[in-house]
This record gives sequence, C-alpha cells and structure tokens, in this order.
Amino acid sequence: ARRLKVKQQTNIRNGVYKNCAEVVTTTRNAFKSGKTKSLSFRKEQLKKLMQLLEDNVPEFEKSLYSDLGRHKQESALFDIEYSIFDIKKTIQNLSQWCALEKPEKPLVNALDSVYIYNDPYGVVLVIGAWNFPINLVFVPVAGAIAAGNCVIIKPSEMAPATAKLIAELIPKYLDKECYHVYTGGVPETTQLLEQRFDYIFFTGSTAVGKIIHAAANKYLTPVTLELGGKSPVYVDDTVNIEITARRILWGKCTNAGQICIAPDYLLCTKDVQKDFIAAAAKILNEWYGTNVKDSPCYSRLISDKHYDRLVNFLKDKTNIAIGGKTDANQRFIEPTILVDVNPNDPVMQEEIFGPILPIITIDNPYQAISFINAREKPLALYVFTNDKGTKDLFLNNTSSGGVAINDTIMHFSVDSIPFGGVGFSGMGGYHGKYSFDTFTHKKGILERNLQKLPEKASSIRYPPYSETKTKI
Ligand code: NAD
Repeated sequence: ARRLKVKQQTNIRNGVYKNCAEVVTTTRNAFKSGKTKSLSFRKEQLKKLMQLLEDNVPEFEKSLYSDLGRHKQESALFDIEYSIFDIKKTIQNLSQWCALEKPEKPLVNALDSVYIYNDPYGVVLVIGAWNFPINLVFVPVAGAIAAGNCVIIKPSEMAPATAKLIAELIPKYLDKECYHVYTGGVPETTQLLEQRFDYIFFTGSTAVGKIIHAAANKYLTPVTLELGGKSPVYVDDTVNIEITARRILWGKCTNAGQICIAPDYLLCTKDVQKDFIAAAAKILNEWYGTNVKDSPCYSRLISDKHYDRLVNFLKDKTNIAIGGKTDANQRFIEPTILVDVNPNDPVMQEEIFGPILPIITIDNPYQAISFINAREKPLALYVFTNDKGTKDLFLNNTSSGGVAINDTIMHFSVDSIPFGGVGFSGMGGYHGKYSFDTFTHKKGILERNLQKLPEKASSIRYPPYSETKTKI
C-alpha cells in the first residue's frame, strides 16, 4: 500500500521579486521592448517550453505523484505528453496562424486593402488549478507565447511539489524578462489581482472565477474563465451497457474523479441503473482488484479538506451500491456509486470533484433534459445512446460548454474544437488554434489610398449634405 506524505501547504515564493507590482512592471517593460513580437522569438520560446517538459519527465512524474499519488501513465496522458503534443502542434502551425488575415471585402472597398492584424494583448496572467497542474498551466502559456504576449504564471499552491518545480524550471528555460512564475496562495493571488493586466486566463472554481471577473472589471481586462460545475450523463436503453459503463467509470475514476469534466452524476431509468451497477462492479474489479487501495493505478485526494467534504456525501450508507470504503490517513476514497439518489441530497448541491457517482432515476429523456435545464449550465454533457433522435433532442435543448456523445472526457483532447464553459461553467475557450485566438486581439484594418479619383467617388459623405448628391 502506498502512503502519501502529509503535505505542508506552504506558500512558496521565488524570492526574486520584492512584490508583485515589481514583477508586473518588469514584465510590462519586457513587452514594451517589442521582443515577443517576432515570429522567430515566439517559436524559439515555444521550443524551449517543450524542451523543459521533455528534459524533466521523471521530475514531473515525481512531483505529480507527491501531489496526487497519481500513476505515471495517467500523468503522461493528461499532463506531460498532452502539453508536449499541444506545444508541438502550436510550433508547427504558428506561421500560418500569425499570417495577416485577408477577409472578403465589400464592393465599395474594391480599391482598398482590408485585413486583420493579429495583435498580442500584452501582459497576460495565467492562474492554474491543481488537478492537472502542468496541463492547465503549460497549454494556456503556450497559447499566450504563440500570440506574442509576456506572461506571469501563478500555479496552484494546492499542488506544491509541481508548483515548486515549475517555478524552478521556467527561468532556466524561458526568457527571464518576458516570462515569470509568481507562486503563492490566496493572499498572493489577491495582491496580483490588484495589478493591471492585459488579459487574465483563470482555471478554477466558479466561486473564485467570480472574484477574478470582479478584479478584472476594474481595468476592463478581458478574461477567459475555465470553471467547473456538475457535468451530467444521460444513458438510455439502446446502448451496450458494458462499453458505456467502462467509458463513464474511466471519466469518474481517473485522477480519483478530480477532473473538471468528470461525469458528475448519471440520469437513467431504473432498469438501466440495475444493468449499469452489474457492469460497473465487474469493470472496477477488473481495473483495481478487490482492494482498490492496493492498486497503483488509483490516485488520492488532494487535501484533507477535500477528503472531508467528499466523505460527508457518504453518510447515508443505505444508498451505496458499490464502494464506500475510505481512509483518512491516505486521503483515499474508493470508487463509489450511489443509487436512487434524491435531487435534494447534499451530493447533488455542488460539483463532486471526486470518485463518487450518484444515479438519479428518470423515466424518459424529456425528464432528463428538464432536470439538466433546471440547474446551472454544465462544463460538459455526456449522452449515451444509439438513437439519433435522442442525441439531437439533447443537442438542441440543452446548453453546456461542450458535449461528448457515447464517451466522457475525450472531447478535451480534440484540439480542433474549442474547450471552455458557458454561464457558471465559464467563458471563452482554448486548445489548438483557439488558444492562439484567445490571446490575440483581432485588429481590423482598412487601408485606403489618397488619390484624387476615389476621393471624388466618396465625396458624398462630406457636408453640405444634399439629396441630389446621395442620388448620384
Ligand atoms: P480554486 O478556484 O480554489 O483555485 C484556482 C486558483 O485560484 C488557484 O491558483 C488559487 O490559488 C486561486 N485562488 C483560490 N482562492 C482564491 C481567492 N479567494 N482569490 C484569488 N485567487 C484564489 O480551484 P481549484 O480547487 O484549484 O480547482 C478545482 C476547480 O477548478 C473545480 O471547480 C474544477 O471544476 C475547476 N477546473 C476547471 C477546469 C477547466 O478547464 N474548466 C480545469 C480544472 C479545474
């Protein structure tokens, strides 16, 4: 059995800056120097960012194990390799993304040039969350660098080993004037938010997202808010229940359910619930054996506070169909499925963000849609069906950040679609080209000549106004 060391959640500071005003000023001066604007500089920095990850894979695996007790294969898939892949694709496509865009122009502008200039915003603040502490920092940072910005990174203090490593490595690889890591917890982030930024990219909870939005409002700073929420799963009786259960449980058990787009709860009929439970018992046994705590493939919870919050949801032992074992010393909670859950139960009042799956029984897809629409807009929606009509029903009648049909989580890895929330699950999106666009101000430009002939043609706009002139 693995035992995780009890972490000391100390605030780590780089020790290089006197205060956050100083780091912002240094970064702003670097942006004003103009060096981040050249394509070659951006590509060079992105290559170094990728090199940073490639050179330090064992160190990152160790830090992620220390923070989350996570298996290195899961860390590669969701954090390290994922970020390397994203940066590599950004480098490959950057010249094309940066090129001047030449949109179609109206007839009246036939003699003019009309184009869109991709302008960096300036100084970007990236605030990360702890559940994928590499991915959630490196992917937005890559987008910000690609777009020509300077960046201040605030990793999550809740994953202290990874935050410390990021703070040590970034100055060793990236330009020391343009990119900075500012570590710390709530007080440090609060101080940072008093500063003026040109863009803020935040990943975290809806509650803190509101604080970020309010702080950004002071300077009308644009924001991307990558937040959370309760992502529902609907399963009907047309599916292969074993494949369905496998895909849902993988989304719920990876990283011990600490994923923003983890399936939060399941909506299905009583009959489907029965079949799902039978399939789930078999699958979980295949994956983790009879004693999940001994499996090296299963993560631990990030903090005692998080563990205590989740254990509270398991007080009513009568509705636990599978799992329910816990161990406070290891911050361990077994994959647990709750049946016939009442929508008023505490587990249905907030994002679970852990390995507990409540099932709420409904009679038909219309009831499921009403249930979803009576709550805040989720970050993800999952629909398992072989019926096209049912699929369309959900797509046309619900609103969510994204959707996966017949799978969970995997839409996150498709970089040709935007990833982001809507309503309380966030605003804005990123991944692939969408990251570049997020950190780019699209400057629309009209360029005209000063020759006399076209000036005569457009003279109708000048006073004195007359109907005769307009008729010509
Ligand atoms: P959190 O909101 O507690 O913390 C996120 C960041 O905000 C951290 O860097 C933290 O230092 C800072 N912070 C915390 N409290 C603050 C305050 N009062 N003032 C200023 N800054 C503050 O979130 P978390 O616990 O790190 O992450 C879990 C949440 O993040 C879940 O809701 C999850 O769904 C969401 N999440 C969303 C995504 C996404 O891509 N949409 C990804 C991962 C996590």
